Amino acid sequence: MIIANESVVTINYTLKNDAGEILDTSEGREPLVYLHGVGALIPGLENELAGKAASEKLQVVIAPENAYGTRRDELVRVVSKDGFQGDEELTEGMRVQLDTEHGPAIALVTKVAEEEVTLDLNHPLADMTLHFDVEVAAVRAATAEEISHGHVHGEGGHQH
Ligand code: ZN
Repeated sequence: MIIANESVVTINYTLKNDAGEILDTSEGREPLVYLHGVGALIPGLENELAGKAASEKLQVVIAPENAYGTRRDELVRVVSKDGFQGDEELTEGMRVQLDTEHGPAIALVTKVAEEEVTLDLNHPLADMTLHFDVEVAAVRAATAEEISHGHVHGEGGHQH
């Protein structure tokens, strides 16, 4: 069967940046299993996978607007250190979890001053053109339960 909405798709993938450096890969790990058509993957990759079948391989280049978007200056915030509890010292380059108006988010600490810390909430892959090598390992129809939950159950998916 071919990949369409309500397909459960298993892929092996390697993600590289423009310079050819590997940013992420499923090699040496479990393949990625996802429910197609519910926004589980970035739009550019779902669009390319639609209509493909098991064992097909594809190489795709995805612009930022179809991946993780462009960097936004308003997502860089300077906050008081007082908001951080715990005894772990904040250092530049560290990632911290924050509660924002849109729920929990991961921020990169980009600067630490005496009283304040600068946090960057942009996605680490924002502004980047992504190069994917993808192999479709398997395609099956989602079960009614998976469709109603909006995610995959069983191997590679939710266990509940
Ligand atoms: Zn579920």
